[in-house]
Amino acid sequence: MKIHEYQGKQLLKDYRVAVPRGSVAFTPEEAGEAAAAIGSSAYVVKAQIHAGGRGKAGGVKVVHSPEQVSEAATELLGKVLVTHQTGREGKEVRRLLIEEGSAIDKEYYLGIVLDRKISRVTMIASSEGGMEIEEVAANTPEKIVRETIDPLIGLAPFQARRLAFAIGIPGDKVNQAVKLMLGLYQVFVEKDCTIAEINPLVLTKEGKIVALDAKLNFDDNGLFRHKDILELRDPNEEDQKEIEASKYGLNYIALDGNIGCMVNGAGLAMATMDIIKAYHGEPANFLDVGGGASKEKVEAAFRLILSDPHVEGILVNIFGGIMKCDVIAEGIVAATKSIGLNVPLVVRLEGTNVALGKEILKRSGLAISPAGNMADAAGKIVSLVDQTAGGVAQ
Ligand code: ADP
Ligand code: MG
Repeated sequence: MKIHEYQGKQLLKDYRVAVPRGSVAFTPEEAGEAAAAIGSSAYVVKAQIHAGGRGKAGGVKVVHSPEQVSEAATELLGKVLVTHQTGREGKEVRRLLIEEGSAIDKEYYLGIVLDRKISRVTMIASSEGGMEIEEVAANTPEKIVRETIDPLIGLAPFQARRLAFAIGIPGDKVNQAVKLMLGLYQVFVEKDCTIAEINPLVLTKEGKIVALDAKLNFDDNGLFRHKDILELRDPNEEDQKEIEASKYGLNYIALDGNIGCMVNGAGLAMATMDIIKAYHGEPANFLDVGGGASKEKVEAAFRLILSDPHVEGILVNIFGGIMKCDVIAEGIVAATKSIGLNVPLVVRLEGTNVALGKEILKRSGLAISPAGNMADAAGKIVSLVDQTAGGVAQ
């Protein structure tokens, strides 16, 4: 789960990480009031969307009076911002962070991620702040330094100092940087983050080390123990179908293609997407209904697929073990009863209660193309979708 920059900064502040003074605003009036309350010679008006690259896309504006803050807010609110992280459709700006402008002397990069290769949390730092870290890694990898963190010891102060010196933080500012790094590590661990990134971390002309941006992502599997983080969720920023899926405990991820998939088991779901691709089709989603799902859960899953306007065909691929084929069939029939079915549906069922499942589907009168195996299923759905799209072969 992602949160907004202003929420991340509030959280960081609770962990003694220095951030600029600022507050959130939903209207131009609130923006002006927020600026007046800060009282500064420079203000920054920042679009709050769950994506980076806002600076380059015009989503970060520096102005010099509360009136100008209101004007900038009027311009930004409601605007669709397209950055390299939003995709082509962009994201609508509904909230702003109004904060005091910092006089920047130098920008750095600081981040924490899990290094999966060595199964260790790793702190990464660079003298090249403000730029995409991927770019720095590709062009000047020697400018990235890292410290592997022992989970039992945590980030040791000497490691933080080593990083601070390595990226060129002036000696008399190193203690500030160390304090900030220790706070960042603490929030990462205590809140089950998957990423904690400050880009840029800056040294101001007044000699302060401050987090000017904040990106915190959280592990969805840890959210049950962080009610405070769950409250920060902004449904406007998330895929509505994924939110709906999470209510039913379904593993659903929206993708770009046009073939909706309903599968049981993550491995089979991956294999199904692969075989659709092998037949030159494009899956519209990853969906694992899991083992032992109820009819209601299957119905919700199928409704989700049907409600996706990009779906031009559906492939149901079930290997019933704990999951029973008749329950799957009942869920499909129940979902199509309320919404109807106007795209081709290919079903491949195997395993527990398969005969009963097939019988239920047959009796439903739905136009279903049965498939004998996975290759048959993928081939059938891809050609059916191609036919409805006017015979355009891909
Ligand atoms: P993004 O990463 O989405 O582009 P940032 O928060 O990193 O957004 O802002 C982009 C740039 O804007 C920063 O690299 C920094 O130069 C400038 N900036 C952001 N916040 C402030 C601030 N409070 N004071 C001065 N400059 C800022
Ligand atoms: Mg940034």
